[in-house]
Amino acid sequence: MRPQSLFPIFGDIGALPGIGPRLKGLVARVAGPRIVDLLWTLPTGLVDRRHAPKIANAGFGEIATITLRIDAHEKPGAPKRPYRVICSDETGYLTLVFFHAKQDWLEKTYPVGETRVVSGRVDEFGGGRQMTHPDFVATVAEADRIRTVHPVYPLTQGLTRTVMKRAVDGALDRAAALPEWADPNLMAQRQWPGWREALQQAHRPESGTDLLPDAPARSRLAYDELLATQLALLLVRQRQRRIQGRAQAGDGRLRAKIAGALPYSLTGSQKTALDEITRDMAAPARMARMLQGDVGSGKTVVSLLAMAAAVEAGGQAALMAPTEILAQQHLETLRTLGAPAGLRIELLTGRCKGAGRKALTADIEAGNVNIVVGTHALFSEDVNFSDLALIVIDEQHRFGVQQRMALAGKGRGVDTLTMTATPIPRTLMLAAYGDIDTSKLTEKPAGRQPVETRAMPIDRLEQVAAGIRRTVDGGAQAFWVCPLVDESDVLDVTAATARHAWLQEQFGGSVELVHGRMKPAEKDAAMQRFIDNETAVLVATTVVEVGVDVPNASVMVVEHAERFGLAQLHQLRGRIGRGGRKSSCVLLYEPPLAETARARIDVLRRTDDGFVIAEEDLRLRGGGEALGTRQSGMPAFRLARFPEHGDLLEIARTDARLALDRDPELKGSRSEALRTLLYLFEREEGVRMLRSG
Ligand code: ADP
Ligand code: MG
Repeated sequence: MRPQSLFPIFGDIGALPGIGPRLKGLVARVAGPRIVDLLWTLPTGLVDRRHAPKIANAGFGEIATITLRIDAHEKPGAPKRPYRVICSDETGYLTLVFFHAKQDWLEKTYPVGETRVVSGRVDEFGGGRQMTHPDFVATVAEADRIRTVHPVYPLTQGLTRTVMKRAVDGALDRAAALPEWADPNLMAQRQWPGWREALQQAHRPESGTDLLPDAPARSRLAYDELLATQLALLLVRQRQRRIQGRAQAGDGRLRAKIAGALPYSLTGSQKTALDEITRDMAAPARMARMLQGDVGSGKTVVSLLAMAAAVEAGGQAALMAPTEILAQQHLETLRTLGAPAGLRIELLTGRCKGAGRKALTADIEAGNVNIVVGTHALFSEDVNFSDLALIVIDEQHRFGVQQRMALAGKGRGVDTLTMTATPIPRTLMLAAYGDIDTSKLTEKPAGRQPVETRAMPIDRLEQVAAGIRRTVDGGAQAFWVCPLVDESDVLDVTAATARHAWLQEQFGGSVELVHGRMKPAEKDAAMQRFIDNETAVLVATTVVEVGVDVPNASVMVVEHAERFGLAQLHQLRGRIGRGGRKSSCVLLYEPPLAETARARIDVLRRTDDGFVIAEEDLRLRGGGEALGTRQSGMPAFRLARFPEHGDLLEIARTDARLALDRDPELKGSRSEALRTLLYLFEREEGVRMLRSG
């Protein structure tokens, strides 16, 4: 059970004073639905409102907090004209300007004849001073609340600074002091405040240095989050070791047949990865291994050989893919490569219905099917195995922990292999997964063509189209990826639709469009036509499936490349250069190119090693995005940032280990603080492990 001391902050934002149903929705949009989400939403900047000049001394363009007398209200003479409130002090006049404001609210807030304190930017208008929509207004008695340094929070349409501040203040009031979980020596050495104090300081920065990741309050909070995560990971691991696994040591007969018939020989890193995987499978403990390797590095054949090992040992295997189209592609590959071993491999997706599905699930349950490839449909209740022994999860980040557990529950002591094409820097890996076993495919399969990468300003569009024309005339195909417009797939679609129309004009009918708003079946059909070379050019928003294999595609154009992350660009580029053709990736950008965007493009031109790119990505993003970017699908960190908090990660790992060495179940009274910490950061996996003992 969540400790009582945490109840107040796990309430709904709507429970805060002054936050009604409408405001609640707005605050939730920037922070999240609960009070604790608001606490974790730290300011991104600050505004100093201590500058309090007289009107005549207020500089243009400056933020000022001014005490003024309200002289008169001037209603708009015509619709769309602003409402003005004329104010003054002994040095001059200042006009407050409002657009679309309600008159009764204005009259109540700015009563004629009284004195008010307003804060906002002073602008010049017709030689006089004005302030458009003051950020804050208060009575003289309340002026001190305004005349301070104000934190700046992310806002959204309709959400004012005042409301956000009120919400955060309310949230801070609800945060009770908690028992201290951090080591006193560490706190002293780093000059860290306690948790509650740290929260208050982090939300009330006094200078720019307070906003830096290494400010005591911020690093303390990051440490807390990292400690909670590491504790939870260790608890899960501790528990997993206790569940009986199975020793699956096959005799190698199926693997030999498959390997003998492969049209290529395995790369060194494929062999090493396989050794690591089969060694884990043969051991009595449960395997939880991650196979990392760039798009095109050859993970599929590794997974097939691992699944064959499970079949040799008498079990069944399941491979889960995130989409139907990927599942279909896997099925075809696995069937082709698996044929020499006589494996029965079947596909189970949501589209499999009725009598066909009944027959298939019956065969799976009877053990007649060796390998089942599927999507989320594999979780369905009607799917039961005779003896599920190995689960392979492709692009694992698209599946939640719950789903993976549900699938593992369909077998006994099931081993899992997760495959990801997103190279993850070591620090992030440790932060998110702890010491998970990983195998890496670092070599490219033989015969891979290096991809030429070029960056060009968008005004050379015609030239790029001409290049594609030549490509298509030569029988090859091209991807054209359209800009990612933040948070708005509507805008994505508009841009992609326009580009599609333009390209179609250039090339006739052989251009298709896929985007995130299409029905999955339509999208799959369009993708399939591209895979089958019925269309020459595929225009897509970033929904192009990771991992889709179209060896005949030799050009990848990325429009507005400056808006994509490094890892994403690398992924996109990885879709070409797979066949025998010379391939090129064209990064179209909108000049002028910002420095980091230029650096990103340079990295891509320099290397195509996903691991190097991942490290560079992390370095270039420095100070930016918190861990947990959507496309990498890593578990989200709210407070810890990488690489800035990398040193804290090491400390948290050590501290978590020490704590569990001392008290493996966190039962003792000294562990109370740590239990609270797990709840505070909702590391439920860890908490669940404690409960089930
Ligand atoms: P991933 O899933 O890692 O993105 P795939 O498993 O789809 O990559 O492999 C990409 C392509 O490389 C496939 O066409 C596959 O046949 C080929 N391939 C895999 N291993 C090798 C190898 N050792 N030598 C040559 N080609 C290979
Ligand atoms: Mg793949």
